[in-house]
Amino acid sequence: MSPLATPTSETETPSVSTIELGDVRIHRVMEYSDTTPMTTDVFFPGSKPEEWQRHTELLAPHHWEPDTGLTRAATQTWVLRSEGRIILIDTGAGNGKYRPLQPIWSYLNTDYLANLGAVGVRPEDVDIVANTHLHDDHVGWNTRLEGRDWVPTFPNATYLMPRRDFEYWRPENLHNTVFGRGNQNVYEDSIDPVVEAGLVQTWDESYRIDSHLRLELAPGHTPGASIIHLDSGGDRAIFAGDLLHGAIQVHEPHINSCFEEDEEGARASRARMFAHAADNNALVLPAHLPGHGAFEMRRRGSGFELTNWAPFSIT
Ligand SMILES: [Zn+2]
Repeated sequence: MSPLATPTSETETPSVSTIELGDVRIHRVMEYSDTTPMTTDVFFPGSKPEEWQRHTELLAPHHWEPDTGLTRAATQTWVLRSEGRIILIDTGAGNGKYRPLQPIWSYLNTDYLANLGAVGVRPEDVDIVANTHLHDDHVGWNTRLEGRDWVPTFPNATYLMPRRDFEYWRPENLHNTVFGRGNQNVYEDSIDPVVEAGLVQTWDESYRIDSHLRLELAPGHTPGASIIHLDSGGDRAIFAGDLLHGAIQVHEPHINSCFEEDEEGARASRARMFAHAADNNALVLPAHLPGHGAFEMRRRGSGFELTNWAPFSIT
């Protein structure tokens, strides 16, 4: 792949939204990248001020604003072209959705479909949508509003969903009303319409998409939280979904976000994924990193450190 940037947030690079790893082309398609309303202690409740201070050079200003204490985050789709097919990993929060417990995602009106078009992808061209888990900010563009109806945005795609999340988040299980988790309305507007169109395939433990790409269960953040391994021509990557929400977690992997269903499970899955990434020199592409959006890492002592940012343009 292209040379990677040095590990500070200050590095400016030319506008880059596409890289290639082996025989797979990866586009970064943004939905939203901005300062969140959450300070570090709210977004990452177990984190200490000195831990953020220790990594100021890495995190400020694109991941954390030291002056306000506010965090920054993105929602984005990793679009893959592999073996002649177009594969979307996660679909953001979507436009026009009512999220009473997550006002930041309510009634968005972004240029997401135009951004998808900018990398040459029309909705009808998409072959596979992989939702890493079924939180509201990963399934939003599964559907779009047509008149008064939510219809599949990608009518020719198979939507791959982890079975454990598919069961856990059903509205009748009442996991939707816990403060801050905000999954209310998600089935009604973003899951049920694609189920009713016959487009959903659930999977368990692991699922091979093609010879380069494999979904793997990595529970904790949610029961069905998953990652996607890329292995092609000696290049490796991990699309990490929500196994981490901030770059600080590479250096301080005990820190969880405020959105974990199972705190210990989240730490265990993150540790396993980090070890694999470090030992295999894999590019890590989480769902929510702003800035360069992805990175490489290595072991350092008993922990890890971020070594390089990906060459994607800063957001
Ligand atoms: Zn998320």
